[in-house]
Amino acid sequence: MLRRQAARESAARTYPRALPVVPVRARGMTVEAADGRRYLDCLSGAGTLALGHNHPAVIAAIRAVLDSGAPLHALDLATPAKDAFTDALFEVLPPALAADCKVQFCGPAGTDAVEAALKLARTATGRRGVLAFTGAYHGHTAGALGASGDVAVREPVEDAAAAAVRLPFPYDYRCPFGIGGERGAELGARLAESLLDDPKGGVLPPAAMLLEPVQGEGGAVPAPDGWLRRMREITAARGIPLVVDEVQTGVGRTGAYWAVEHAGITPDVMVLSKAIGGSLPLAVVVYRAGLDVWRPGAHAGTFRGNQLAMAAGAATLRIVREERLPSRAAELGERMLGRLRELERRFPCVGDVRGRGLMLGIEFVDPEGEAGPSGALPAAPETAAAVQRACLERGLILETGGRHGAVARLLPPLTMTDTQCEAVLDRLADAVQAVAR
Ligand code: PMP
Repeated sequence: MLRRQAARESAARTYPRALPVVPVRARGMTVEAADGRRYLDCLSGAGTLALGHNHPAVIAAIRAVLDSGAPLHALDLATPAKDAFTDALFEVLPPALAADCKVQFCGPAGTDAVEAALKLARTATGRRGVLAFTGAYHGHTAGALGASGDVAVREPVEDAAAAAVRLPFPYDYRCPFGIGGERGAELGARLAESLLDDPKGGVLPPAAMLLEPVQGEGGAVPAPDGWLRRMREITAARGIPLVVDEVQTGVGRTGAYWAVEHAGITPDVMVLSKAIGGSLPLAVVVYRAGLDVWRPGAHAGTFRGNQLAMAAGAATLRIVREERLPSRAAELGERMLGRLRELERRFPCVGDVRGRGLMLGIEFVDPEGEAGPSGALPAAPETAAAVQRACLERGLILETGGRHGAVARLLPPLTMTDTQCEAVLDRLADAVQAVAR
């Protein structure tokens, strides 16, 4: 019966992650399936599980709320769990933002926080448009989709999406200017300036610029620090709020607590979700206090007071800080990139390897194909899918994504041990070798 229901459920929707795994138990990086097989999980709830599955401190924090008799649903009211979460968040926020900001809960999902951020920027500026970037992913509600780079997913809401203008994201490997590096990124920055400053440039003054410091779903593409600083300069000079989506990059994943810290920039608005809920749904926007122009009740939500997620999130934020997991992510990421570069040298089907901290990607290409204007070979999504399957056979769960679905993405927990890291790399190398043959 259950099986029939389950089949109906998956048949009714278009799940991109059709992994033939039924997870029944999980701890840290290890997932055990119903058939008894064990896997190393490099998907981590699409980058949500900073501490891996069922971290004892997270479980204890959830249990403490349950045992305390506190209300599990408290709408927007202040509660001990909310206070503890907010305190934990302020301890780790970039100091320049923490000094003068407001925090707003907008759960349950990351996309809700993106909606809130864009609506706030529109309210505060009285403007409508949004500057977003090619390859961007911000969620699946209409406003967030409007800023997405993916034409196929945006198409059904194109009316709502019309307000967003997408500029080229500095995606080195397939740089639209065929240059890449800091120079390619600088050309992108100048393009943004000319569109904004040319009265016939076709862009109305926007309500916000929205960006990911490292694109996640777009294929693990880190923006150069210099480019992020230029975007900060360009927006500051024109009074455009800079909204940074740290839903996937936040809480240590890129090797700093927040990815904006690599570039030393302070956004006007930061959008947070995924890891901040310690594996339960929680989303928050943090914004410069001066942007707080909401009327009372201007932005509501019944489920933005998830007490269990706040408790799990507070425990996660604290452990990531106390155990210096951002540095650990940086160290592990460097080690993994080193081994991925070996794969790039050995196998012509590996076109590019990249990432920052534990947000890594391998872009597969067709070695027989013809190089495009950027110099890159055509993307090979079927190779990425074959590698994903070969990894699964070897006990490794990873995700595919990127512009053409040709990127294998690695998002292991920040608590991954050295031994697990080596096992991931060995299984991955073996899988690529099997597919490349
Ligand atoms: N922003 C980014 C950068 C994301 O990676 C995601 C989810 N992958 C979202 C927003 C949307 O989050 P959610 O799926 O929780 O709505």
